[in-house]
Amino acid sequence: MTRAKKATEVPTDPLDAMLARLQLSGIRDQLDNLLDEAARANLSARETLILLCEREIARKDHRRIDMALKLAHFPAVKELAGFDFEAQPSIDPKQIRDLAASRWIANGENVLLLGPPGVGKTHLSIALGREAILAGYTVQFTTATTLVAGLAKAHGERRLDEKLLALSKPKLLIVDELGYLPLEPDAAHLFFQLVSRRYETGAMLITSNRSVAEWGTVFADPVVATAILDRLLHHSHVLTIRGDSYRLRAKRKSGLIQPPPAGDGPPVGSASLRPVTGGNNLQPRS
Ligand code: ADP
Ligand code: MG
Repeated sequence: MTRAKKATEVPTDPLDAMLARLQLSGIRDQLDNLLDEAARANLSARETLILLCEREIARKDHRRIDMALKLAHFPAVKELAGFDFEAQPSIDPKQIRDLAASRWIANGENVLLLGPPGVGKTHLSIALGREAILAGYTVQFTTATTLVAGLAKAHGERRLDEKLLALSKPKLLIVDELGYLPLEPDAAHLFFQLVSRRYETGAMLITSNRSVAEWGTVFADPVVATAILDRLLHHSHVLTIRGDSYRLRAKRKSGLIQPPPAGDGPPVGSASLRPVTGGNNLQPRS
């Protein structure tokens, strides 16, 4: 196999030099192999060029995806293929597949994934973020506490604008675990500024263990929470997941913990989760 050439290596061959200058490293690294492959297959000049371009594009796509996955800061590797839809009947697989096509991201819409702990909110948010990256979008993953702490710090250092600008860059911003931990006192105002900045231009995916009706308490400011929700829900897809924690299922199966009594009411942690009302669960805009 041909040795991969370092970008810093000074090329002596004129073709090599031109490929380096054009930054066609996929062709440059594999040129001899690719030309052999083309000769063996009796490819015409045009077909050979197609082969070379295909390899270059594949290399560039691969690099872009690798880089974008690093920049997204996902806390784990999760894919839609690894999500067991049968274990979570409150989720419509078709709706998730629609979201995986990433049109909502192009339209700057929002997704709210609501539900008790362990039902797969973080898993689905990473998986949808991954699909967005494969579709060519930039994605950033963060938790609500980290996000708000970062905004508060920037505010204290008089560089809130700079921080908001940075947070408005990724086409999809995923905010995980809103409502799990108490937020900073200024959280509502800071979060409102972020949501306003991204409104209708950048998509957000927010996961929460609290129903939207409880966000007034989460932000300790019902008025600002309403303003936040007004913008978030305007073009949104709200998915309320019910059911048991997937984490506890395996333990329950092994008899380590008791199953909930037959015909029980709402499952663990879901008592506080009410379905979202008011026709906010919009279909994607056509
Ligand atoms: P949540 O964010 O709702 O608390 P997670 O997404 O962190 O839940 O899920 C907890 C663990 O269970 C993760 O390892 C996740 O991959 C797994 N999990 C949850 N639901 C499913 C599912 N339906 N199919 C496969 N794995 C699941
Ligand atoms: Mg989670």
